[in-house]
Amino acid sequence: MTPPTEQIEGIAASGGIAVGPIVLLRHDQAEPTGEPRSLEDAVAKVVRHYAALADRAREEGRGEEAEVLEAYELLVTDPALQAAIEREQAIGDAPLDQAVMTAGNEQADELAALGDEYLAQRAEDLRAAVRDIVTAVRGGTLTVDLELPEDAIIVADELTPADTSTFDLDRVGGFAIARGGMTSHTAIVARSVGIPAVVGAIGVLEAVEGATTMLVDGDAGMVCIDPDDETRAAGEERAAVRQARRQAAAAWHGKEVRFDGERVLVAANIGTTAQLEAAVEGAADGVGLFRTEFLHLESDHPPDRESQAEIYREAARSFDDPVIVRTLDIGGDKESRWLELPREDNPFLGVRGLRLCLEQPEVLATQFEAILDVADGDLWVMLPMVARLDDVTRARALWDERVAASGRGPVPFGVMVETPAAALLARHLAKVVDFVSIGTNDLTQYTAAADRGLASLAQYHDPVAPPVLQLIRMTTDAAIAEDIHVGVCGGAAADPVAATLLLGMGVRELSVPPTEIDVMRSLVADIDPVAARRLAELAVLLPDAAAVREEVTSAISGLA
Ligand code: PEP
Ligand code: MG
Repeated sequence: MTPPTEQIEGIAASGGIAVGPIVLLRHDQAEPTGEPRSLEDAVAKVVRHYAALADRAREEGRGEEAEVLEAYELLVTDPALQAAIEREQAIGDAPLDQAVMTAGNEQADELAALGDEYLAQRAEDLRAAVRDIVTAVRGGTLTVDLELPEDAIIVADELTPADTSTFDLDRVGGFAIARGGMTSHTAIVARSVGIPAVVGAIGVLEAVEGATTMLVDGDAGMVCIDPDDETRAAGEERAAVRQARRQAAAAWHGKEVRFDGERVLVAANIGTTAQLEAAVEGAADGVGLFRTEFLHLESDHPPDRESQAEIYREAARSFDDPVIVRTLDIGGDKESRWLELPREDNPFLGVRGLRLCLEQPEVLATQFEAILDVADGDLWVMLPMVARLDDVTRARALWDERVAASGRGPVPFGVMVETPAAALLARHLAKVVDFVSIGTNDLTQYTAAADRGLASLAQYHDPVAPPVLQLIRMTTDAAIAEDIHVGVCGGAAADPVAATLLLGMGVRELSVPPTEIDVMRSLVADIDPVAARRLAELAVLLPDAAAVREEVTSAISGLA
């Protein structure tokens, strides 16, 4: 009898399934080879290295990866880090490499201790960048010389940009990474090149001792170590089905799709200018969610009206269909470099999104004005983190005032439904807004009271859990009753099982990552509306997400 296959759960960072030989990457294996360097020389070397990698990534159309690398350049040249290293050296007369390591890791620990997912991720980035400086100080090379077999599964604690840049990505089948989250460097690289990845797979390094092969399920967020023949065969079959589905879906590129005779928009979620390019390339039906936090994350001063308007204008001009700009959603897992916000014990439950904007109305007013400055294209505006009707009424008053001042005709004004309160209030909300978009990422975390960034709570993060489906149903029913547009911009929109139910409930816009547009178009075109409606009725009555998935996949072939 074969021993039971060991599985580790993590975060599904990049979709797809891969099976292949394990290649373990340990950073402590890198041996210093050349002459030690001064801090200044080492930092300059690392910066040149990142700059060259960023240029290459951009040339090869991986804009998002290029942006990450540019952010790393800022991290290694941060004067606060340099000062901390000098202090460390002065205190203990420590050798330079140790001083860099200690100072860098202390700064990373401080960031991580703030209990915020976004900052925790930046802490990981800092640790990776510090490792590269240490390597350069020791005279080592920044490239890792790894012999990769075909379909290699890279297992590591975390990968630095220097690591990923030196792999021959054509030989990489998948990534299984112990640390990191959805915005970690590995996750971004993996998504941009379509390699399955699971990050936040705690314990994976220890678990692969003595193992040879691994199955990475980037859809389910799970890795399987030394899978038995049956698991392996099932994984390979699913990978083949997925591949065939993607190939067939290419026929839908740029085409309009209908469900039950009505047009369904398969729009893109974007949050950087690089993602805007990807959405255009993916021939998205507009943008269902334009996350505007990057305007605040990348700069240490508030973005002004003109620079915001320019970005929104470019987005609006890129599509014939609506581009939905979400107003600032800072707080929770998203931070600002210039807004000095007080520390909160529970930032996901704190002054975030709309609440923050109502406390700082000038920020919201500037964003409204920038949106209204865009005359060409079809821009809509949407508020995040709604939990009270009164918050919406106040924001709407500010909006109406700015619309009147602009002399513009009506511009659609909507809200995200991403808190249970908003779903429960949907009947009232639907009367005062022009559209709603369901944010299933937050709706799921708030319904299950399970931090969406915690890999160890992955079993609570399924948006087809019946409690979440009931709240979605309340929202779609309210939207239909008031005859307003209803979309979904959370991760459920790109999940075939969830999307089937969403269509069955009346959702007519699925906003998904740019890489998933064709696949979701082909799904919309193929789903039988009668079956989808029946499943939607049934799913809300089932006891758990597993039962829902079982019911839907057994009723509709090819979804699993
Ligand atoms: C959501 O919460 O589902 C959503 C789309 O917004 P974000 O992921 O930016 O919080
Ligand atoms: Mg959200």
